[in-house]
Amino acid sequence: MEVIKPALTNLQAHRLLYCLVQLRYIPKKTNGESYSVPGLLRRYTPAHWDDYNSRDIREMCAEQILRTTCIICDEPMSKTTTGDHLIPLSRGGKEGLPNYIALCKSHNSSKGAKDFVEWWTGKGWKLEQSHPDVLCMYTRLRYQLCRDSNILDFAAPDYLVEALRSEILNQPGPDRKAILISSGLST
Ligand SMILES: [Zn+2]
Repeated sequence: MEVIKPALTNLQAHRLLYCLVQLRYIPKKTNGESYSVPGLLRRYTPAHWDDYNSRDIREMCAEQILRTTCIICDEPMSKTTTGDHLIPLSRGGKEGLPNYIALCKSHNSSKGAKDFVEWWTGKGWKLEQSHPDVLCMYTRLRYQLCRDSNILDFAAPDYLVEALRSEILNQPGPDRKAILISSGLST
């Protein structure tokens, strides 16, 4: 697909990621039809990214923290668990509850020092199979990290570009077009 070039900047990758996350939250109409994706995506511009859904983000974090089972396998979490980080501290992730992901001991050690999307897609799982709140928290965190480290204009990592390419190719044609237009990758 010519519009998703092999190299995307972190900013371009995040535009796509935000669109995909938003799509996960779009409810169906009462008659079961989908809303118009272009109209809905227009409401979410980079200006919203940093503080967007800040109340919802708090609720999402709280919900994740209150989980008593692993997000992958539902194994009960040990009472002394510290969970894991969506973005490892060694990769610039911050200490704190917004960076928390509930993983059992075995999934925790499988994730290791990878970031959430790198680990998830490395397992062969699709982004759309991930918990929407977890992906939303990850998206916001990674955007803030890139912004604060001044690397928004740098090339996005291959694992992220590959994950986005595969998710976008899976979208129905009109939605795919809307995502690419909203992300500034197509006109
Ligand atoms: Zn597990």
